[in-house]
Parts: sequence; C-alpha cells; structure tokens
Amino acid sequence: MTVRVRIAPSPTGTLHIGTARTAIFNWLFASRYKGKFILRIEDTDEQRSKPEFVEDIKSGLAWLGLIWDEGPFFQTQRLSSYHKAIQQLLDQGLAYRCYCTSEELENMKEIQKSNNQAPKYDNRHRYLTAEQREAFEAEGRKAVIRFIINEEQEIRWNDLIRGHMIWKGTDLGGDMVIARVKESSDQLFGQPLYNLAVVVDDIDMNISHVIRGEDHIANTAKQILLYEALGKTIPYFAHTPLILNKEGRKLSKRDGVTSINDFQKMGFLSEALVNYMSLLGWTLSDSTQEIFSLKEIAESFDLERVNKAGAKFDWDKLDWVNSQY
Ligand code: GLU
Repeated sequence: MTVRVRIAPSPTGTLHIGTARTAIFNWLFASRYKGKFILRIEDTDEQRSKPEFVEDIKSGLAWLGLIWDEGPFFQTQRLSSYHKAIQQLLDQGLAYRCYCTSEELENMKEIQKSNNQAPKYDNRHRYLTAEQREAFEAEGRKAVIRFIINEEQEIRWNDLIRGHMIWKGTDLGGDMVIARVKESSDQLFGQPLYNLAVVVDDIDMNISHVIRGEDHIANTAKQILLYEALGKTIPYFAHTPLILNKEGRKLSKRDGVTSINDFQKMGFLSEALVNYMSLLGWTLSDSTQEIFSLKEIAESFDLERVNKAGAKFDWDKLDWVNSQY
C-alpha cells in the first residue's frame, strides 16, 4: 500500500501547536513508510478564513522542516467535487433538503432538554412530500442538505492508536447537515460543510491514513457512514491524544503560547521544538538517549506506541532540549 497522509488546517488562525503536532506525526509516518505528506487548506468558511493565516501555516510548517510533497490544495477550489458527491447522495435517497428554521431547531432542543433528552435533530423533514417542499420554498425558506444517519447502525473501526472503537448511530445528533443551500434549491449547495468536504477530499486525494486529533472521533464515525454511502474505501484512522498543560487540561491561550510563531518569537530553535514535539506522547526507545535526529525518530515512528492519554507539555524539558543545540 502506498502511504498517503495529510493535514487539513483551517486558515482561521495562526499555525496552532496542536496542528503542528498532528503535522509532525503525519510527516513522521509518511517518512517512515516512504509515503506522501499532503497539505490541504480547509477554507470553506469564507468569513473566518484569511490569506494571511494560510501564509502563517505554510511558513510555520516550513520553519519546522515539515515540507509537504503535494499541495497546498484549497477546498474553495474544489466545490464541484463536493457538489457531485452531494448530488449522488440525493439521487440515492440518502440525503434530503431540510427547511427547518433556526427558531424551529431551537424549540426542538428546548423541548428535548426539558425532557432530559440529549439535543438532536429529530429528522422531521426526512420524508417531506413534493408539495410540502414547494410550500416551504414559496415561503422563501432556505434549505440545508441533510445526510440520513441510520440510528440502528453501530459504527466500528480499528483505530491505530486507540484500538477497537464503537460508536452508536443514536449518538450522532440525528441526520447531519452536509451543505447549506445559498440562494434557491436549484443553485445547489452553496457551502458544503466539514464532514462532507473532508471525506470527498480524502477520497479524491487517495488518503490511506487519517491521523488527527482525538477531538475528531465523533466526526470519524459520521465520516465512515459517508464513505459507505458513497461506496468508497474507508481509510485507516488514528486519533492522537491532545496536548495538555501542567494541570492536565487542554493547552489553551491561557497557557501563554499556542501558536508556532509564539515559540519562534521566544527564541526557541525549530530543531529543538520539532524534536521535543516529535517525542511528546510516545516513547522511542528504552535507551537513555534524549536527543534524536528527525531521521532517527522517523525510522522508529510507530502509531501503536503513541500513548492514549493526553501528553503534558513540559516547558522545562523544552528549555533543556533547546539548550542541547
Ligand atoms: N480542519 C480540521 C482541523 O484542523 C481538519 C480535521 C481533519 O484532519 O480532518 O481540525
């Protein structure tokens, strides 16, 4: 099998330490198996995406020495591929137009909450008749496209870091929005949403292994359903644990530093940072050697050795690694 991995940051902020860590793991994996590392920019959120963040992501990755073999590919330039997939799902009867207003959705949630139920879309527009659809259109309501989630189904995958995973169809929030229709329903699906776009991208780019943060586990369950519906091969998945602060909470802005360029400004050497981060959350060997070249790390990189628990970011250790260069 040819290994093809990717990172897919959204240019809605500077290169985040979590994204850089995901990039490092993907790069090491590609390097170990002589595969390809692909850069894709998830810029479908037109309001929040900014060209200066694309530049920051590219220069941050380059500074860390994580040069991509293909890309960057931009989602905004791939809309026709997403539209094709959405059309296929509609044609197969696996997706439909939902005309619920935000007030209706809010009310639905309120009622569920007062009944002590987890909020989810109750699939009420799944089987609209043509007349009902026309009536909603005539009212000028805007549609979204929802993908039918089979609640009976259990989604299973063998995660290369976390092992055997099972997710219940009932825990996916009801039929999932995969696109928003912008103007009218003929002008199909103005804006595809993340889960649909990412699956179509990973299919088109022949991604063999999806290695990303564990905050995407529920998305993986949804994405597996999309692969199945589109009749495509499901890639391998590996979910990396989050980076934690000293107190064991997710590293955040409050910890002072979250972007790669902050480390740059503080004077850390890129070799030290990449070395420290490469070994964050897994062990390379039982020897006492502490500093390894990236090549050495890549030669032994193994997803199975990545810890399932979060990895604590240790400033003293990073300072020490930095002093070794
Ligand atoms: N834009 C998503 C992120 O940065 C991509 C997730 C993925 O790799 O599928 O978290």
